[in-house]
Amino acid sequence: MGNCIYCGKPAGFFRKRHRECEERYKNTWNAMILKAKEVALGVGQIMNLEGELHNLAKEGYVSQDKIKEALILGWEEAVLHFLEDGNLDAQEEEKLVAYAEYFGFTQNDLDKRGIYTRFVQGAVLREVLEGKVPQRFKTADPLPFNFQKSESLVWAFSNVKYY
Ligand SMILES: [Zn+2]
Repeated sequence: MGNCIYCGKPAGFFRKRHRECEERYKNTWNAMILKAKEVALGVGQIMNLEGELHNLAKEGYVSQDKIKEALILGWEEAVLHFLEDGNLDAQEEEKLVAYAEYFGFTQNDLDKRGIYTRFVQGAVLREVLEGKVPQRFKTADPLPFNFQKSESLVWAFSNVKYY
């Protein structure tokens, strides 16, 4: 007799999970990400968020060490939502930065799926549209060319193939 990986109770011969428990886990996980996304979008109280995710997780068999992941996935979804119209306006950027700072996330945390890069691109595009020269892109790699006086770096894509 196998025990359910979610509730720990017997799940029947050759079975590792109850269908209802798995369902509950998945629904909880999605609800956690949605909750985090809403707060990153600026809806709801940021100081209550971790506690709310903690409670949801407990009810839905989600391990407490997945909370950070849910917080990050929520931020990523908020970025993609704000970027749907093509760029990131200043208030949108502020909300996303405030959320990331509140939880102490690093660029590394936020760029596992390349979303931090898209966030910066969105802000760079806004500045271009506003007629400013964006200065926020920094590259660690040396560039294979020199700038003229009137030129500055807006963006560099690495490892680009060309023909
Ligand atoms: Zn179960």
